[in-house]
Amino acid sequence: METVTVPLGDRAYPVLVGSGALEALGPLAARRRPTGIVAVMDRRVEALHGARILSCLRAAAVAPCHPAPVDGGEAAKSPAAAGDLWRRFAALGLDRRGLVVAVGGGTVGDLAGFAASAWMRGVDWGLVPTTLLAMVDGAVGGKTAVNLPEGKNLVGAFWQPSWVVADTRLLATLPAAEWGCGWAEAVKHGAALDAGYLGRLEAYAASPAGDEAALDRLVAESCRLKAAAVGPDERDGTGLRERLNFGHSLGHAYERLSGYAWRHGEAVAAGLRAELALSVRLAGLPAGEAGRVDRLLARLGLPPRPGAWPKADVADALRRDKKNSGGRLRLVLLEALGRARGMEVPWSEVARGG
Ligand code: NAD
Repeated sequence: METVTVPLGDRAYPVLVGSGALEALGPLAARRRPTGIVAVMDRRVEALHGARILSCLRAAAVAPCHPAPVDGGEAAKSPAAAGDLWRRFAALGLDRRGLVVAVGGGTVGDLAGFAASAWMRGVDWGLVPTTLLAMVDGAVGGKTAVNLPEGKNLVGAFWQPSWVVADTRLLATLPAAEWGCGWAEAVKHGAALDAGYLGRLEAYAASPAGDEAALDRLVAESCRLKAAAVGPDERDGTGLRERLNFGHSLGHAYERLSGYAWRHGEAVAAGLRAELALSVRLAGLPAGEAGRVDRLLARLGLPPRPGAWPKADVADALRRDKKNSGGRLRLVLLEALGRARGMEVPWSEVARGG
């Protein structure tokens, strides 16, 4: 098991990664002696792993521990679902010294974290990510949010957890399509932040399946890359954290245009491909390097389907992206593998297509 630290001064927190990491869940949950624990759990995960996770939480026996099942998926990441959770927190008597534990994929992490950020003006929380996407990306960094019909993640808060426990054994039940979504975010980390990591992903993708230790190392390394971007730029203000948006501007546009029928990671994979092409045209990324990432994505079966929306619709969806302000289009593009940078891009480039 590896421990990655998210370096946030006196709010620094550990991310425990690896097969068997759940053993640490009880002691971590008990650390601040909470008065009560509410485990906000994806219903599907509850059916598959709920008993084991609850027994780890209850083994610490510091406080009553209640499951609060929720739906997973993008549609369930809503203000109504947050409101429903707050009503359940009230019914369960969760007070200011209570602990919220998010158990599920990225959607449940975003929802439960947002609910924790506002409950009694902010209570302690921790995460047990159960999808590859949430382990390599979503559970690290303290961004929480819910969606509105007007757009994704429009209402949210920066609210850092106290710990993250990513037990890769939980991935044994993950459907193949969800694995692909996680790989898309891992490829993003390699392409945008560290070409060496990209090489290790290539080696893993080319090797026979089932190397648990290699998987654990890749998940931990992804967390380390994200932690290093988040620590010095927690609130996304200096450009360091912004680099994690590579592939996401067009990805979010595709997600929206699909009416959220595309999984987040699937849309990100398509966004990565489009923004790679833009990087070659506008940021000096050598075509050979873009081709290398394209080949890795293809090897991982990403994106699983091509998007074919009119350019005007893509531009319209991009205009609604909260990352663009003052009518200007800002994209994160690659100057080289491992070197991403935010830059303003003329709207006409989107009209030309990615
Ligand atoms: P998800 O939470 O919808 O989970 C995907 C599916 O996998 C769901 O159907 C869920 O029930 C199922 N599932 C979860 N764990 C399972 C397991 N162990 N076995 C079997 N099935 C399991 O989707 P996701 O891809 O994990 O997360 C996507 C979300 O994450 C998006 O909303 C995205 O915006 C968000 N996100 C947030 C951040 C952040 O920094 N906060 C970063 C990246 C992505």
